[in-house]
Amino acid sequence: MPLGVHTSIAGGLCKSIERAVLLGCSAMQIFGRNPRSWIYKPLPPEEARLFRSTREASGLWPVVVHTNYLINLCSPDEEIFSKSIDIFSKEFSIAGQIGADYLVTHLGSPRDMGPRFAIQRAAQAFKEVARAGLGLKTMVLIENTSGAGSGFGGSLRDLGEVIRAAQEDGVASGLCLDTCHAFAAGYSFSTPAEVRALVEEIDEAVGMENLKLIHLNDSKGALASKLDRHEHIGGGRIGIEAFRALLAHPGIMKVPMILETPKNTQDDDPRNLAIVRGLLEVSS
Ligand SMILES: [Zn+2]
Ligand SMILES: [Zn+2]
Repeated sequence: MPLGVHTSIAGGLCKSIERAVLLGCSAMQIFGRNPRSWIYKPLPPEEARLFRSTREASGLWPVVVHTNYLINLCSPDEEIFSKSIDIFSKEFSIAGQIGADYLVTHLGSPRDMGPRFAIQRAAQAFKEVARAGLGLKTMVLIENTSGAGSGFGGSLRDLGEVIRAAQEDGVASGLCLDTCHAFAAGYSFSTPAEVRALVEEIDEAVGMENLKLIHLNDSKGALASKLDRHEHIGGGRIGIEAFRALLAHPGIMKVPMILETPKNTQDDDPRNLAIVRGLLEVSS
């Protein structure tokens, strides 16, 4: 079962592979570039080549790129909207250049325009983005959010509509389920029955076959708190029993998982990985 952590690219993209391998990861997520800046530098082809060969030797799968946090693919502001499409397209091509399997993105905020506007706006964005993805094997994954403020993406059904629209426009796309965000948005999965209900909800919203990645994070905030604050596995309000129930579900346990848990000390990643491996071993 592919399992990894979000890994730093400090010192160059290839360094992230070394870090992931040292942690015993079988999957990995990185930022393609500084996630809080609009400034974009193209990736030198030799760095992309080195990444691809190092990654191939490592056997890591999947390799996931997470987009810039400033991207807002449902903004009502024309300037922000077109800038977001431009940056997203560049991230898409970086992900393609390094042979990433998935490009994970949040959709942003329609401000006070509401979810119907956001769905149509995001669908329009993907129509434009489709061109940038031509010929790339990278699939776009849309991540659910905690639904804070006017942010879009707390509802799996809303995301399902966007994913279907993107697929119809020829953008290979699927869902990335973040457990912290889902819990903060009001989805509870603390018992096997609740896990089954969540899986049914995903299946009706997008189809379980479109759930390609799970961001496994505990939550500092309570159920439906809308608070997007990640916590160590078992150390937050979701709690270890809920993760045990979630990872025991046959439809969930086979989905690649990435931890985005806090990294305060060097022991944090190894400890969270060990907890998840323990839960998966018991289930399998
Ligand atoms: Zn994210
Ligand atoms: Zn996430």
